[in-house]
Amino acid sequence: MKLVKHIANLGYGSRKQVQGMFREGRITDADGEVLYADDKVEHDRIRVDGEPLDPPPGLTIALHKPAGYTCSTKDIGRLVYDLLPDRFRDRSPLLSPVGRLDRETSGLLLMTDDGALLHRIVSPKSKLDKVYEAQLAQDLRGDEGARFASGELLLESDDKPLLPAALEVLGPRHARLTLHEGRYHQVRRMFAAVGNHVQSLHRSRVGGLGLDGLDEGQWRQLDAADLARLF
Ligand code: URA
Repeated sequence: MKLVKHIANLGYGSRKQVQGMFREGRITDADGEVLYADDKVEHDRIRVDGEPLDPPPGLTIALHKPAGYTCSTKDIGRLVYDLLPDRFRDRSPLLSPVGRLDRETSGLLLMTDDGALLHRIVSPKSKLDKVYEAQLAQDLRGDEGARFASGELLLESDDKPLLPAALEVLGPRHARLTLHEGRYHQVRRMFAAVGNHVQSLHRSRVGGLGLDGLDEGQWRQLDAADLARLF
């Protein structure tokens, strides 16, 4: 791929704008030699204004999503993209959320531009654990764990019962729930189905990957070892 296209795809600007950056001598190699749009140079050796390029396609990140941010590119209000470098929302292929979290849900959100990886994580076949902690409006009654584990709970407007899910009681109104699928508003709808209401929801883990000390609003790039821990 031509350098100009590669750099434009990383969100540095339109091809025309990136052509302009070449003309201004802002794109160089690691030794400071000015590069031209047709040059063939390894990604890691390219500099823009002296800075290394953003990660190449194949980027996967973990974001600690705060409540109040939407997993969408276009919406009114705050978006998860507002928490990332500006260029990330203009990358092609797009860095997309891997399964959405509701606006009011906080916690671990994976984002990737790798379509095959995204599919592998969200596919119903993957059965990857997703672990949530919920604060509830009412005390747990005691039968919720058995109902969630039964594999027979049918949510309103669904035609298939839920897969068995594991409930751990952490307090009278505090529970940890491990799911192996990801249906729309699933945790909130599960507690509604047993007569309760989720007041706040946090995802702490996806597969073998947790937040690992990421504070709210922070993100980090995942490497091969992280991805291996996922599955
Ligand atoms: N279940 C929900 O209800 N909301 C989320 O954001 C994730 C799972």
